[in-house]
Amino acid sequence: MKLYSTKKIAPDVDLKEAVLKGLPADNGLYMPYEIKPIDAAFWENLPTYSFTEMAFHVAKHLIGAAISDADLNMIIQRAYNFDAPLVKVGDYKIVELFDGPTLAFKDFGARFMGRLMGHFLKGNDKEVNILVATSGDTGSAVAHGFLNVEGIKVTILYPKGKVSDIQEKQFTTLGANITAVEIDGTFDDCQALVKQAFLDKTLNEKLTLSSANSINIARLIPQSFYYFYAYKQVENKSLPLYFSVPSGNFGNLTAGLFAKKMGLPITKMIAANNSNAIFTHYHKSGIFEPQRSVQTISNAMDVGNPSNFARMMDLYNNEIEKVRAEIAAYAFNDEQTATCIKNVAEKYAYVLCPHTAVGYLGMEAFVADNNINPAESNNIILSTAHPVKFGDVVEPLIGKKVEIPERLQNIINGKKLSIPMAPDFTTFKEWLLNK
Ligand SMILES: *Cc1c(COP(=O)(O)O)cnc(C)c1O
Repeated sequence: MKLYSTKKIAPDVDLKEAVLKGLPADNGLYMPYEIKPIDAAFWENLPTYSFTEMAFHVAKHLIGAAISDADLNMIIQRAYNFDAPLVKVGDYKIVELFDGPTLAFKDFGARFMGRLMGHFLKGNDKEVNILVATSGDTGSAVAHGFLNVEGIKVTILYPKGKVSDIQEKQFTTLGANITAVEIDGTFDDCQALVKQAFLDKTLNEKLTLSSANSINIARLIPQSFYYFYAYKQVENKSLPLYFSVPSGNFGNLTAGLFAKKMGLPITKMIAANNSNAIFTHYHKSGIFEPQRSVQTISNAMDVGNPSNFARMMDLYNNEIEKVRAEIAAYAFNDEQTATCIKNVAEKYAYVLCPHTAVGYLGMEAFVADNNINPAESNNIILSTAHPVKFGDVVEPLIGKKVEIPERLQNIINGKKLSIPMAPDFTTFKEWLLNK
């Protein structure tokens, strides 16, 4: 598998280098040269595949000979010991991506990446330092995905007071090779510190740095799996296929575009934003204007400068008309999101997390705008997190408690360990060098 940088200055790399480096030196993002349609045999066999069998074939198709079949199979078997069921809610279908250990879809990417990096680092005597900026769910997924992976240390930067208690507990209580740094600032500050670290000469001479955000190609590849798996579960596969994707950094949606290039018959993708509507504004106006992020109740989508935008532009050659042909875009504020959670709970006795509610609203708006008959189409909403992670938002709206799954209880009882820090690069750099 050969990859290039979207800035087209840094040299091409193989999968191992792209995964271990994370970011090319020219500050672009790695993209695979070829995303070809999958062979006919895959589609014939898809109805009989388990999640892991299907994931193996998709990964093999994308990755090629970069890893042996046996190793790839092992990575996938170990990463995915949970399901991604498609459930019917009213007129729509929801693919539940929160059955992993941290109860959010990021487990799909992080668990694959952790094991893939571990594989590539076997026999390597240099320790790798992974830096992650998180607005909530990335941190927990990466922490769990890399916990106790040999040869890797993980530093997680998160904005103080802007992640939920459960999210915070999920990446501050693990210890071992995981360290959390609590930044007195926003998610964008955290992301800027990480980006600066990757571009810093001294740090790169002294340490082997790598990223685990959705900018790492190792997270995008596995996020395409569940698009196929959702399609596998629909009854009538000949109907138009729509996916609504609650979006922040647009890794999830970009992975869906990869799936489409591999031949998944997606009629249209729907990008659903919260009030951080950078992409929706771009879709309307043709102008991409990053902003400071604003805080919302769907905080994992509070992103003012979506990092995968460069990949989307690369896929569409910077042509807005091509973007509009394949992607619709809508944005919703907190009030609309809250009302949606309340209404769906009342009508269908189904509890949405705030992010999934934004996706639900996106699907509703798209269906209304285009006079779509949901009985004659497959309208799938990606459910990106379990509502219990956002209990303080959801519970007052639905008027009852969301039950805590057992796999969360241990984490909640753990002790928070984190290092407080100002959003200042010099401080962060010194700390990294002396750690
Ligand atoms: C990260 C996250 C999103 C946004 O996904 P992107 O790939 O950044 O667009 C949505 N919902 C939840 C719960 C998340 O954790």
